[in-house]
Amino acid sequence: MQYVVHYAEVGLKGRNRPRFEARLRTNLERALRPLGPVQVRRLYGRLLAEVPDEADPAEVRRRVSGVFGVAWFGRATVTDPSLEAIEQAVDRLVGACEFSSFGVRSRRVDKRFPMRSSDLNAHLGARVVEATGARVDLNQPDLWIEPHILSDCVLLPMEKIPGPGGLPVGTGGKAVALISGGIDSPVAAWAMARRGLELYYVHFHSAPFTSSASQQKVRDVVRLLAWSQRRTTLFLVPFGELQQVLVRDAPAEPRIVLYRRFMLRVAERLAERTGSLALITGDSLGQVSSQTLGNLDTINRAASLPVLRPLIEMDKSEIIRRAQEIGTYETSIEPDEDCCSYLMPRQPATWTRPDPIEAIENKLDVKGMVEDALERVEHERIEPTP
Ligand code: ATP
Ligand code: MG
Repeated sequence: MQYVVHYAEVGLKGRNRPRFEARLRTNLERALRPLGPVQVRRLYGRLLAEVPDEADPAEVRRRVSGVFGVAWFGRATVTDPSLEAIEQAVDRLVGACEFSSFGVRSRRVDKRFPMRSSDLNAHLGARVVEATGARVDLNQPDLWIEPHILSDCVLLPMEKIPGPGGLPVGTGGKAVALISGGIDSPVAAWAMARRGLELYYVHFHSAPFTSSASQQKVRDVVRLLAWSQRRTTLFLVPFGELQQVLVRDAPAEPRIVLYRRFMLRVAERLAERTGSLALITGDSLGQVSSQTLGNLDTINRAASLPVLRPLIEMDKSEIIRRAQEIGTYETSIEPDEDCCSYLMPRQPATWTRPDPIEAIENKLDVKGMVEDALERVEHERIEPTP
């Protein structure tokens, strides 16, 4: 079975275009490979994927829907570039669909085809009216018939399924995503992968002072995100001892801000190790006390890499909806013990400024605490969910 895959933004990349197309091709092949031998080739600004006939279309659909850079895709008939072959393909499409209105929109990529697109549209339109009695509607028909005439073949999409959009993973560089056990951070990671970033994941936990539930949860959630890239690494940072130093030696109110600053410092060092150029968090402005502008500013100053916060303007309900769409929600709401609710003060500071926080940190061995955490980092390779 052949699938035609169209990309949107990839097409705008000028001289980089071959690189984008090549990456999309490999990413598609990787996503489809579990279904059997798959071949994807480039064909005049689109890709054609040859998938084993026995592959379940719903499964193909699920997989291609997860490949960033795909604008739309669908099963397609591939025929010779002759009028007769096009007519037969259209007959088959029409026979397989229920519709009362339709439109024909041919695209002549190869201008050597002897009929102009408008003539071909009129010819095929008349043929379909005669066969079915359906009405022509060029605004919102039930069915679009869109033969794409290429030089050595004609493609006729049998369906048009929207893809996730974005850019192919791996074309935008690398970043480190901070993943808690919550709903937001997986959505943030997904959003940045969709912009073409390849991700490393890092999770801070307070085990053995809390249960290890959050670690398993993060593993599960990262597995759900992992199949957009070739290999996925999760860093697990034991954070409990560092937290205890802060609880002992620093005031309680700005504790969350201090935790976050240390998280960014450790994450930034992991970014250095992995060649990553940004950190990603799931902050949304004003959602909780650590996410006021005053606190975000204070937190940011602990790192020099950009901190990407794709959810910054989203409402909680929108984030939840997105988490449901991408399939991480159910895992995220399982119970766990978040390292930040461990040793949480009763009255957290809702607006801090960098100077007083730096004054607090100047009394601590910041460097030593970061090194100590880094020494105990564990990393795991995460295999994607099948
Ligand atoms: P989430 O739903 O992702 O937990 P949240 O709305 O609960 O987000 P916070 O708990 O304030 O927000 O965390 C803000 C962001 O800081 C998270 O989205 C995540 O990127 C990062 N973060 C928080 N806790 C951890 C952790 N234990 N490990 C790694 N990153 C964390
Ligand atoms: Mg949280």
